[in-house]
Amino acid sequence: MPLRAFFAGRELLAPLMSDEEWLNLKAQRPKVRLCCCDSTGYLRTSKLGTKHFVHGKDRIFDTPRPKGARILGSISRTYLYFAAIKE
Ligand SMILES: [Zn+2]
Repeated sequence: MPLRAFFAGRELLAPLMSDEEWLNLKAQRPKVRLCCCDSTGYLRTSKLGTKHFVHGKDRIFDTPRPKGARILGSISRTYLYFAAIKE
């Protein structure tokens, strides 16, 4: 469940967004770029009300990569690797 993504040059941290901000953005059905693997994704709210992103089917993203996105992506992948081997 990705919680971090880029949209319109901004980093979005799903759990930290206000309900109003989240619903307004979600209503626009934007394609965001996920920090975990650089693919496109969408906004979703779980049954329990957790704001998160889901992976889209394509990996094409035509806007410029925000500064620092590659580094943040690598950190995310490292974290996921360590999270996986701890299980
Ligand atoms: Zn991902």
